[in-house]
Amino acid sequence: MVYNTHRLHGGGGRKNVQFQNRGRRDGAAAGRVTERMEDEKKLGVYIHIPFCASKCAYCAFYSLAGRDKLMQDYQHALLRHVREYAPQLDGYLIDTVYFGGGTPSYYGAGRLISVLNALKKNGHVLRGAEITAEVNPDSVTREELAAMYRAGFNRLSVGVQSANDAVLKSLGRRHDFARAERAVRDARDAGFKNISVDLIYGLPSQKRDDWANTISRAVALKPEHISCYGLTIEEGTQLYVFKDSPFLPDDDEQADMYLYAVDTLSRYGYKQYEVSNFARRGRESAHNLKYWLGGEYLGLGAAAHSFIAGRRYGIVPDIERYSEGILYDKSVIETSEELSDFERAGEYLMLRLRTVYGISEQEYYEIFRCDMDRILNRLRFFETNGWAEQHDGRWRFTPTGFLLSNTLIGQVLEEQTRQRSQISKPWLKATEGEDPQLTMFAVGENRALKLF
Ligand code: SF4
Repeated sequence: MVYNTHRLHGGGGRKNVQFQNRGRRDGAAAGRVTERMEDEKKLGVYIHIPFCASKCAYCAFYSLAGRDKLMQDYQHALLRHVREYAPQLDGYLIDTVYFGGGTPSYYGAGRLISVLNALKKNGHVLRGAEITAEVNPDSVTREELAAMYRAGFNRLSVGVQSANDAVLKSLGRRHDFARAERAVRDARDAGFKNISVDLIYGLPSQKRDDWANTISRAVALKPEHISCYGLTIEEGTQLYVFKDSPFLPDDDEQADMYLYAVDTLSRYGYKQYEVSNFARRGRESAHNLKYWLGGEYLGLGAAAHSFIAGRRYGIVPDIERYSEGILYDKSVIETSEELSDFERAGEYLMLRLRTVYGISEQEYYEIFRCDMDRILNRLRFFETNGWAEQHDGRWRFTPTGFLLSNTLIGQVLEEQTRQRSQISKPWLKATEGEDPQLTMFAVGENRALKLF
């Protein structure tokens, strides 16, 4: 079969390397292989499963309900995509695999296992790779979980969302909290030692007590990882009617809920490592960290995104076009762009500041060969307001800073833009542009005040 490199590479730069003879890895050429392994890069693989049993009221992800008859073609397409594409990843070692959606568990354990097996057969999935599947409590059985665990899945992300059954119902979730508890129990019985639960706060009519109760009941499940997402009301979702509604918690209430989560989870041993993510030591999501720390990842399936060799790719967000494209050799790439140095520097700032690993002047210089004086000025301003702090030469947001991170990161990027002429010009000092303080008052501070 001819590789269709256009699917993910958009006809662009990477060479179409041949699949390495795997026997060589175990045989006489071991020395050469070891040498080669050191050159190989790590890669995450994301597989999008865009099927759901029904559509939740808040959901703006690319996922469809009532399209189960498309699953079979989709599965054929995914398997073919893996078979064709994975061999081209000869220079990569796959250290994370993530099945997201949609609802992978609704798609069925058997199909997920087949795709994982195909990936293992055709690519270099490392022993010990983090292999995650998102599951919803209503669409997974103990037997399926056991089969997934035996097949190599070692991490689950369970969509719990709330401990309040009335809230779950209003969100269009198909499970109650007791069902979520049972799913976590079943996962433990099946052998899973790394479980994450997703929670949402800032829901219509939700009060602080309700959120506190959800947090404590989630902690009682003893997951290794907890994600807490603030509700954002997106156009096109059922909840959109609540936009600007007095039933939504106001900014103060939302801020309280967020800071309560940070504080309480920390006391129970879940350290914040990203704006919305908390984990026990060593249980941070290795896959998601790739997104935030600039790692490379390959996305397969409708609406999946990739970042490889300095290029971003997006696959069409359309199940039928994806399946047809893969099965009949048409391009499924909808977007493809090579990031400039300036854009890469912007991503470094924007994504790393979402994490507790933060940014450093030294690192910024080493990667992008430019200084960050203006950005440092802005960070110092944040520091005086209690929004940022520095440790060992790295800057990161405090919990209050994370709360304001969209606004604060916007201000950091404004400074980066002002310093734009310095990209690729080592250590030139900024001599033009506005005074950062003036800009802060003109734009940034107002925005912050408006929010909280
Ligand atoms: S299960 Fe997840 S992906 Fe599916 S509709 Fe609900 S929130 Fe969206």
